[in-house]
Amino acid sequence: MNEVLTCFSEWHRPVWAEIDLDHVAHNIREFQRITPPHTQLMAIVKADGYGHGAVEVAKAALEAGASRLAIAFLEEGIVLRRKELSAPILILGVSAPDTEKAALEHDLTPTICTVDSAQRFSQAAATLGKTIRFHLKLDTGMGRIGVRPEQLKELLEALQHLPNLEMEGVFSHFSKADEKEKTYTQMQLHRYHECLNMIHAAGFRPTIRHLANSAGTMETSEAHFDLVRIGISLYGFYPSDEVDKTTVDLRPVMRWKTRIAHLKMLPTGERVSYGGMFTTRRPTMVATLPLGYADGFRRRLWTKNWHVLVRGQRAPILGKICMDMFMVDVTDIAGTSIGDEVVLIGSQGENTISADDMANALETINYEITCLVGKRVPRIYVKQGKIVAIESLLGYQSM
Ligand SMILES: *Cc1c(COP(=O)(O)O)cnc(C)c1O
Repeated sequence: MNEVLTCFSEWHRPVWAEIDLDHVAHNIREFQRITPPHTQLMAIVKADGYGHGAVEVAKAALEAGASRLAIAFLEEGIVLRRKELSAPILILGVSAPDTEKAALEHDLTPTICTVDSAQRFSQAAATLGKTIRFHLKLDTGMGRIGVRPEQLKELLEALQHLPNLEMEGVFSHFSKADEKEKTYTQMQLHRYHECLNMIHAAGFRPTIRHLANSAGTMETSEAHFDLVRIGISLYGFYPSDEVDKTTVDLRPVMRWKTRIAHLKMLPTGERVSYGGMFTTRRPTMVATLPLGYADGFRRRLWTKNWHVLVRGQRAPILGKICMDMFMVDVTDIAGTSIGDEVVLIGSQGENTISADDMANALETINYEITCLVGKRVPRIYVKQGKIVAIESLLGYQSM
């Protein structure tokens, strides 16, 4: 790996995220193992694949057995189509007025949950002489988007009279599937069944019924239906600490790394970084790393006793994290030199720093950690030990 990486001299700075596509495939296979053969897997690649890179993750997931993709909004879907991904793509969010034609032209499947939006899609489809397949979204207790069960009858009546529309799917979203206590999840499941009955009674025959996210898929097999939507766990993370981690064996997909850019000895009593908040208490070997909060390495970590891995050991952060750099203490790590590989997320030697560890320190969730790894950090896609693509500020390069 390292030899190959140094070939890319156009990288002005050694900061990168390795995206392990074999782990994507492994995670997909784990979900295949716990779902029935007729249940399809939808790979959720919104937010640029939770920060991992939607295109390569989508390809790897489809190759491993996922049959569909989903993104949050139109542009994210167009990005995938431009990279010649031809699998069905569901837009999970509501479509803004006047985007109907674009969705149709790029063959993206919209989510519909209001009469207004159904009318707009019907009209756009009629104009283009097409029939549009959509998924109906139900709000069974998330309180976000979706038609409420009380309003479902009205929407179904409108849909019965709107031409050029075909209800391919019906879905809803869990809000507490990752919690141990399943009463609320069971209530949502119950409401979902009631809505399905109404939809059936109104004469619709949607073939793709789906409800479960990663947590729902792992924890609540009654929610598998025709398709499950795998997001966070596609990337190798458990949705929370409360899920049973023995159900599926997940492997984290992202490793975030850099190299020591500068190294110097500071005498006792010298200050480090903005505000001079850290003062050396001994002669200190300070290593400067060439990334900062503008890369998604969160500034707040400086107050959290955080560290990175150097030569397999933990090197504590010294002072505030800057926009493009921060400093760590390597005094106790013998033999450190400029150019040494530093692990920000991942393993080195016996030690590991996971996105979960970082999320706990920052009082947030693993989802947010990988999503916020900045666009300045090149994504290096690795498959069977080989680099297959690179995505950086300079563009996308397939090997
Ligand atoms: C993001 C999202 C998912 C994926 O959820 P995970 O917890 O990441 O598995 C599934 N369904 C909908 C509607 C979503 O917005």
